[in-house]
Amino acid sequence: MKSGLAALFACLLAASCAGPSTSGSNNGRPDEWGHRPGPQGFDTVIIDAGHGGKDPGAISRTTGQREKDLALDTAQRLKRHLGGRVKVRMMRDDDRFIELDDRASRASGKGNTILLSLHYNSSGAGVRGPETYYWRVDSHGLATRIQRAMASVSPAESGNRGMVRRRLRLTRNPDIPCVLAEIGYLSNPAEARLCADPAYREKMAAALARAILDQQSKGDAGTGALPRPIYAPPSRPTDPAGS
Ligand SMILES: [Zn+2]
Repeated sequence: MKSGLAALFACLLAASCAGPSTSGSNNGRPDEWGHRPGPQGFDTVIIDAGHGGKDPGAISRTTGQREKDLALDTAQRLKRHLGGRVKVRMMRDDDRFIELDDRASRASGKGNTILLSLHYNSSGAGVRGPETYYWRVDSHGLATRIQRAMASVSPAESGNRGMVRRRLRLTRNPDIPCVLAEIGYLSNPAEARLCADPAYREKMAAALARAILDQQSKGDAGTGALPRPIYAPPSRPTDPAGS
């Protein structure tokens, strides 16, 4: 990452900087910025179950369930739903801790591959509903599909942010299309009970699989205009919140 950062700073100092890989075509190769249309015909999905090991993530006061367990369960269900139609790699397949930067670097450099990170959310008790985070231009279409798919399963939403463009370590730093899905708020009692129901997680996993396979077959078709490119440095743990 050091050489990448050095290149980035040199780039920021230049009067005009197009950044690497701005051809606009989707040739399936990884790039740093992702300023191109979304992927179509990719052959591999990396499923990243958030948190794990010493990091439980959010814990529901209503059900006592931990985000790390629900994320892993949903990741395994998603893998089954994708079975055979696309190669699946699991970032973790058991209860282990992996640093965010390690997750980003393990996903990087993989051609014809996308990354989906799965989480469950936490905030005030009144907020509920799925949210989808993306940063790269080439991840907008997939994020749109993911958010639509989760919203089609979610029976009620209140105060949630829907689809959000945010520079996170798992939306900015991998050099492949990447999306982070927050499936539901464990801090909302009704949604926590829903998320504790295996049948609900199964429906969410099926919807996520349909979104991924739609992106694989159709690319960005039907997902709206691409957002503008933004040149911003990789996300760091020391970044101020919300930057
Ligand atoms: Zn999380």
